Formats: sequence, structure tokens, C-alpha cells
Amino acid sequence: MPQVSGLRREPSDADVSEAAADRFKVYTQRDLERIVPLQQLPASMRFDMQVVSSILPFRVNQYVIDELIDWDRVPDDPIFQLTFPQRGMLSPEMFERMASVLRSEADRATVQALARELRAELNPHPAGQLQMNLPLDANGEPLNGLQHKYRETVLFFPSQGQTCHSYCSFCFRWAQFVGDKALRIATNEANRLHRYLEQHPEVTDLLVTGGDPMVMKTKHLRGYLEPLLEPRFAHVQTIRIGTKALTFWPQRFVSDDDADELLELLQRLVEAGKHVSIMAHYNHWQELRTDIAHRAIARLRETGAQIRSQGPLLAHINDDAADWARLWKEQVRLGIVPYYMFVERDTGARHWFEVPLARAWQIYRDAMQQVSGLGRTARGPSMSAGPGKVEIQGVTEIQGEKVFVLRFIQARNPDWVQRPFFAAYDEQATWLDQLRPPFGEAQFFFEPEYEQMRRERGLIT
Ligand SMILES: *Cc1c(COP(=O)(O)O)cnc(C)c1O
Repeated sequence: MPQVSGLRREPSDADVSEAAADRFKVYTQRDLERIVPLQQLPASMRFDMQVVSSILPFRVNQYVIDELIDWDRVPDDPIFQLTFPQRGMLSPEMFERMASVLRSEADRATVQALARELRAELNPHPAGQLQMNLPLDANGEPLNGLQHKYRETVLFFPSQGQTCHSYCSFCFRWAQFVGDKALRIATNEANRLHRYLEQHPEVTDLLVTGGDPMVMKTKHLRGYLEPLLEPRFAHVQTIRIGTKALTFWPQRFVSDDDADELLELLQRLVEAGKHVSIMAHYNHWQELRTDIAHRAIARLRETGAQIRSQGPLLAHINDDAADWARLWKEQVRLGIVPYYMFVERDTGARHWFEVPLARAWQIYRDAMQQVSGLGRTARGPSMSAGPGKVEIQGVTEIQGEKVFVLRFIQARNPDWVQRPFFAAYDEQATWLDQLRPPFGEAQFFFEPEYEQMRRERGLIT
């Protein structure tokens, strides 16, 4: 049997079809052969999926399979690409190494050992997340489960929220879903969060993230969030919750056992004067086409919470201006505020999904031109890199040299924010570390200070 969420009764055969719409049922690598629509695909494709999902995490639920994927368009369907492993996600060499081990029917330990070795080659922790963003307590000890990179915003990774209803094939936090628990960024200590916030009056925003905090039961979420109504947390004005549940499991807000309780919690926070923002991860308008997705959005908005949308630009999924324009128009119509368009990060299956920065900017611009002002609130394309969020603002020519115009929309040093700077134009570059300063300059303006910060963290000597 496929795994059934432990929170719900296992369905009997008789009520499977009738109840499928509101019962959470999930498939992982070992259930690949049980996914009915996959059975019509060539066996070689299913083997490819076995190979890739031995290295990269895979998890998909029945709602995504039944309601979001157009099986007639597989393998090109964007939601299929978003959730199912594809051969091209691994380099041919890496693919072949794992394929030959699987073909030889090696034991589990051999497969696991190779998987660990190959994952390490996929830059599992981009942007120095583990070392650079961990805050320290009063004794200088790292506070697991928290990240504090930008002065005003603290990220919190509740341990019960470190999985998702389905996994995105391009996830930049993919490494936390495979094996090694020691590398997980997580905590179950509400106290630790609250103590840290209390000691940091400069923090105005708490961003609860994961994984997906919406996989948590409402009672856990309440334990973290309700205390923020106490006067000692008056400086924490905004509570953001990052989630892809509006795509992968809108039932969370409509028909789950504790859906109503969740909405009550959000409403209580709003009524007490907090700004609550659901940071919804969206990649394609197809995610927005079901009635239940619309109902979930409407119910969330009734609480007084705002919904903002963000997501990366990805080859094979949404590298098309018309798709972005349609997504943003649809979001505006449903009352969602477009917030960020990200550049795919330099990790995991990046070679399958990456789009050159020059092309990313063209797609962004072309999409912007197709929407009204209310759809133009999405900033980007933005790279969440070590020094900060760097936006590509355009391409121009200065003193005869073609350049990218860039700016920080967030930075480790707030003083770097909103200063225009330039990089030599490079049609192929896909990430900040591939860009070079123009005009024969040796460094970007922020580099000496950033290097100093890294030295202080012992990342370079
Ligand atoms: C994006 C991000 C934030 C939030 O930045 P905003 O510009 O306020 O949305 C906070 N922390 C980290 C590490 C981030 O990447």
C-alpha cells in the first residue's frame, strides 16, 4: 500500500474513489510502480525515475496526480516536471553510475552509500546556509532551527514542518529531505524561538518556513505563534508563513480536521494587530485551476491574512513570459499579491532547470509588460545568494561596454540595499558567482566586506 498519512484513517477499498479528493494519500520512491497513470509510460522512463529518485527526494500526493497534472501532456506537463523525477536532472555520468548499481540489484546499503556520495557533488547547502545564517545564543552557541541573515527578519524552521505535501523536483532545500538528519535545519523548541525574538527588538518579521509549516497540525503552529501576542513581542509586527499547500494540498485550509482551527488562529493574530502573510509558493497557473484551490485562497483571505506569491523561474516548467503573465493576472484576480520571481539556485538538479540570467530578465520584462500595475509588484529575477538577494534590473551599455544593471533587494549589510551596481554582460551566466565586475574593476563593491564576514565565520582563511 502507498503510505497513508498517519493522521488519517486508512481508506477501505470501497471509499477510496469517493474520498480521494479530501483524504491525504502520498507516494514515495518505493510506490512508483503503484501510481496508476505512470503505468502507461514506457518501462524505461519508470526506470529513469527510480534512478533519479535514489538520489534526489521524491514525494507526490493523489491530489496532484489527479487534479493538477495533464497526463496527456506528460512528460512536458509543467506540474509533472515540478513533481516527478526526470532523467536529465542528473548528469549522464551520475545517472549511469546509479543506473548500473540498480541494474546489478545491489543491496540497499550499496545504493545508499552511492547516493550519499553523489548528493555531496550536488552542492547540497548553497549560499553557506548552514554556517553563515545560524544565529548564536548569549554563550556563542549556534541556535539550530533559526536563521537570521537580514536584520529585520528571522527564519524559523519548526521540526514538525520539515516535510511537504509533495516535493518540488527543483527544491533548493532538497538535501534536508534525504537521509542525514544531522544536517537538517530544525528545532522543536518554541522556547528557543521566543527567547531569541525577545532578545532581538530589531526583528520585525518572523518567517516560519520549512519544508512546509502547513504540514503541521494547527496545535503545533499555535504553540509557536500564539505567544507572539504577548506584549514582550510587540516588535514582531509581521508573521509570514511560507507554504506550497495552496498548490499541493488546499484541503489544509478547507476540509482537513483542523482547517477551521487554523483559520481561527490566523484570524486571532490579525485581530490582535499582527500582519499575517501567507508566502505562497507558485510556479504555474495550472496550480490555480481547481475549485478547492480557489476556496482555500478565499478562506485564508477571510481571516484578514494577506497572500503573497513567490517562486523560481525554471526551464521545463515556466520559462515562458506568457505563463508568468497568466499566473500573475490570475493571482491578482484571486486577491494574491505577486512578490518575488526567483532565479533557480545553484544546487541539486540545477542543470535541468537553470535559465541564463539574461534570458530570465527578458522573460520577466516581457511578462511585466503584459500585466497591469497590480501584477507588477513581483520583484526579480532575484538571486538569493550568499551576500543577499540580488535583482537583475536590466541590460544596458555604459562607456561602450554591455553590462547587467543589478541591485540588492536584501543584503547582509543593509547599507548595500538599493545601490545600483554593474556586472559585465554574460549571455550564459546563470548565477552571481559567474558574473564579473565590468570596466576592468577587480571586485564588486560589496566583496571586501562580504569576505570579512566569511572570514569571521571561519569559511575562508
Ligand atoms: C528572502 C529572505 C528573507 C525575507 O526577505 P524580504 O526581502 O523581507 O522578503 C529573509 N531571510 C532570508 C534568508 C531570505 O532569503
